[in-house]
Amino acid sequence: MVENWREASLRSLPAVDVTVNLYKRAYPESRYPHALLVQAVQEIVDLLRRQILAAGSSEELLGLSVTPEEVALRLGSWLGQLEVPSLRRVINATGTVLHTNLGRAPLAAAAEAAMKAAAGYCNLEMDLSDGLRGSRHQHVEKLLISLSGAEAACVVNNNAAAVLLCLNTLAAGKKVIVSRGELVEIGGSFRIPEVMSSGGAGLKEVGTTNKTHLSDYRAAIDAETGLLLKVHTSNYRVVGFTSSVDVEAIVSLGLEFGLPVMEDLGSGLFLDLSAFGLEPEPLVKERIAAGVDLLTLSGDKLLGGPQAGIILGKRVFIERLKKNQLMRALRPDKVTLAALEATLRIYLAGQPLREIPALAMLSMSAEVLRQRAENLAERLRRHGQNMLIVNTCEDFSFVGGGAMPLTKLPTTLVVLRPRCGSFSDWVQKLRSGQPSLVGRVQGDRLLLDLRTVAEAEEEEVFRCLT
Ligand SMILES: *Cc1c(COP(=O)(O)O)cnc(C)c1O
Repeated sequence: MVENWREASLRSLPAVDVTVNLYKRAYPESRYPHALLVQAVQEIVDLLRRQILAAGSSEELLGLSVTPEEVALRLGSWLGQLEVPSLRRVINATGTVLHTNLGRAPLAAAAEAAMKAAAGYCNLEMDLSDGLRGSRHQHVEKLLISLSGAEAACVVNNNAAAVLLCLNTLAAGKKVIVSRGELVEIGGSFRIPEVMSSGGAGLKEVGTTNKTHLSDYRAAIDAETGLLLKVHTSNYRVVGFTSSVDVEAIVSLGLEFGLPVMEDLGSGLFLDLSAFGLEPEPLVKERIAAGVDLLTLSGDKLLGGPQAGIILGKRVFIERLKKNQLMRALRPDKVTLAALEATLRIYLAGQPLREIPALAMLSMSAEVLRQRAENLAERLRRHGQNMLIVNTCEDFSFVGGGAMPLTKLPTTLVVLRPRCGSFSDWVQKLRSGQPSLVGRVQGDRLLLDLRTVAEAEEEEVFRCLT
C-alpha cells in the first residue's frame, strides 16, 4: 500500500502542459521548440517522481517543492545547460604533454590558421591546375614522403584505423604473425588481437611474453600466412631477461618468403629528442630505411599534429590501401588534413622545436620551468589574499599518450592548498570554470606543472586562482 504522504506528493506533481504554458508566459521571447520544452519537463517531473518514490519518510520530502512554478524554474536551468558548449578549452597544468583525455597534442599556430582557411570551401578533391578531380591524399603525401623517405603515403582518421585498414587490405582471410610480447592494449580500447579480428585477419602468436626469436617467426610461417607484423610497445616495457627481433631481421624473413612486413610504430618520431632527456624512440626515417613495407603512426602523439593515422611505405601497398572500400569510411576530413599539412611543413621548413607546441614543451629546460613556477608562486603569495597556502617543489612531467612510459622530465610544481573550505569543491570549481583549469590532485593539494601551460595562459591561471 502506498503511504498517504507519498501518494499526496505524487498527485501534486504538475501536469506537463501546465508547466510548459507557465514557462512560455514567463518567457515569451524564448525560441525553444515546444517539443523540446515538453521533453525537458517530462524529464524533470520523472526525476521528481523517482525522488518521491525513493524517499523513506515524509520528512525527506520537506525540501522538495513540486509546484508548477518550481518546475518551470528547473526548466529554465535545464535549458541554460544546453547553452554551455560541451567541448571547451582547458588549461592543462598536469604536466602530461600528450594528455589523451585533454585532446593529446596542442596544435601549432600555423595548423590552427590552416584549419580556419580550410573551414569553408577548399580544393580538398580538386586539382586547381586543370579543374579536374584530385585526391585528398595529395595535400600531405609529398610532405610525408620527403620527411620519411617512404615511396608513398596516405592518411586515415587515427592510427587504430591505419592498423585496421592495413590488416584488412593485406591479410583478410589470412594469418598475421605477431610476437606475444607485442600484443598491446593502448588506451583501454585499442587491442591488437581485437583490431586484427575486426580487420578479418587471424592472429598467430609466436614466442613468449619476454622472449621471441627469429626462429619463432620462421617456424610459424605456412600457406595461410599473409603478413608479418611488428608492434611498438609504446606504453610499457618488458625489462630483465628479454629479447625481441629487430625489424631488419623480420624484413629479411619477409623477403625470403615473399611476405609483406608491417610495423605499427604508435607515436612515430620524426626528430631525435634524446638530447632533451627523452628515452630513445625509433625514428620514422630509420624504420622506413630498414625496409618495412608499411609503417603506421599517430598524428597527435609525438608528431604534435591533429588526430590522424599516417601510413607510410611501398607504393604497391599504399595503392592497394587507397582502393580498399574501408578507406571511404576511415578517411580524414578537410580540417584535419589542413592541420596535418601545416604541421608537416614546420618539420620541413620551420623550427619544429619552437613552433610545434608538444615539442617545445618536451624540450623546455628545467631551469626555465623552475623560474616560471617560482614567479607564479610569488605572485600568488602576494595577491592571493591569504586564501591559499602556496609552495613549490621539484618533480617530474610525463610525455603521455602512451609514449615513452619511462621518461621523467624534471620540472618544478606550484603546490596549492586552500586555507579554508572544501578542497574538492575548490578543485571542482577550477575545473568547471571558464577557462577550465586542470592540475594534478595529490591528497589535499593541487599541483600545477607549467610545462603544459603556454606562457600566454599564465595570466589566466593567475586569474583563475585569485
Ligand atoms: C597509440 C597507439 C595506437 C593507437 O593510435 P590512435 O592514433 O590513438 O588510434 C596504436 N598502436 C600503437 C603502438 C600506439 O602506440
